[in-house]
Amino acid sequence: MQFFRRILNWCFQGQHAWFASIVAVFFIFLWVYKALVPPSEGHEKPFTLPSKPVVNTIRQHNIEVAKSDQDYNALLSTDPLQQVEQAVVSPASIEYVIKSGDTLAKIFNRFGLSKESMYAVLEADQEYLVLEPLLPNDKFTFKLDAQGQLQGLTRRLDISKSVSFVRHGSGGFTYEEHIKPISYTQTSIHSKIVGNFYLSAKKLGLSDNNILIIHDVLKGRVNFRKDLRANDEFDLVVKNGSIDGVQVGDTQIEALQFVVQGKTYRAFLHSDGRFYDQDGKSLTPALLRWPTSKHYRISSPFNANRLHPITGHRAPHNGVDLATPVGTKILATGDGVVTRVASHKYAGKYIVIDYTGPYGARYLHLNKILVKKGQKVKRGQVIALSGNTGRTTGAHLHYELHVRGRPVNPMTAKIPTAQSVPSEQMPEYEASVARWIDMMSHPSSGAGTLSATKSTQDSDQA
Ligand SMILES: [Zn+2]
Repeated sequence: MQFFRRILNWCFQGQHAWFASIVAVFFIFLWVYKALVPPSEGHEKPFTLPSKPVVNTIRQHNIEVAKSDQDYNALLSTDPLQQVEQAVVSPASIEYVIKSGDTLAKIFNRFGLSKESMYAVLEADQEYLVLEPLLPNDKFTFKLDAQGQLQGLTRRLDISKSVSFVRHGSGGFTYEEHIKPISYTQTSIHSKIVGNFYLSAKKLGLSDNNILIIHDVLKGRVNFRKDLRANDEFDLVVKNGSIDGVQVGDTQIEALQFVVQGKTYRAFLHSDGRFYDQDGKSLTPALLRWPTSKHYRISSPFNANRLHPITGHRAPHNGVDLATPVGTKILATGDGVVTRVASHKYAGKYIVIDYTGPYGARYLHLNKILVKKGQKVKRGQVIALSGNTGRTTGAHLHYELHVRGRPVNPMTAKIPTAQSVPSEQMPEYEASVARWIDMMSHPSSGAGTLSATKSTQDSDQA
């Protein structure tokens, strides 16, 4: 120990530090070299190419070792296997796992991909906004041709969904989605309130989002603080999606029943994504058609099948452009939670909001954003001032309305403005309600305090 301490002390004295660093760097290079080059010299056995493509392992190894992009390039250019690599794998596919601090520009630079290709991908992303934000442990796959040019980029969003940008003949990229079918299980849960509702719901494994939905659906009828007492009972029917036994997404509440001081309150999820009472009366607030208090000129309409004027490839316009002068007050079109506040090369400053029910909205090219990520907003609340940020040909608001994650025409979509289930949908709704009530009134035996009982039904709808 004494010996090592002395060496350490010596290393950190003045010029000794330089010498120590050089020795350290030498050993690091030696280690890198040993790790990359198989010991073929001096052996009878000739070097044979591995049967698996070597490019991934070698490149990933380099990423581990390289501390900067320069180091990485240096490693590649001195890599004795590089020629072999090109001979073996072409076109190449690089899997990359996002680390904290990564940006698209850094990653493209690291793999020697051109800025032009990054901008072309970002241009295609403008209507989808799926490339960013980068989250640590996200998986990206880059497909390259023999010249190292980017041919495709895939991001795995979750177990069920991945998205790709694929190069087309005109040099741009087209967007593709790959979705695995999800199988669903319905479960009925019976519980008593212990302490307060929030704690009881948490113990059942409900997410904050689901607790908020229950709260929103019952508010105006039940006061959660005053009315709910210990030993009040509630029942839920929840639906969980899974792929190969692994849960996908959040638990969805389909039906709920609260018995509060002897009175029963119920709510049911209709196929339009909104909650209604037993008689089909709406419990989900309606949406605003316009994201502004005045109706501005539509400078570019929604068009899911728009073709690019030059390349002729599909380049949809997923929102509607409103000719708002810079500084126009922009409104939340529903009640919800801000899920993203960000900036994009082409979309400019933008906001994404998740509304109650299956709805969501995006607001692009903003000048000033007045809300924060995670903030709850109310329908009609001013959330931003419109602007001219990103790539635009003039000041405007690009407004998108999404239903279950799919963009729809905000000007013509059937949005919840009605206050009850339409009469032609009542038979379907009533049949579902009868089934849910049956599930909630027949929980398995032994439904004591906070014991969840499950009765499952499989269904295969995606
Ligand atoms: Zn637009």
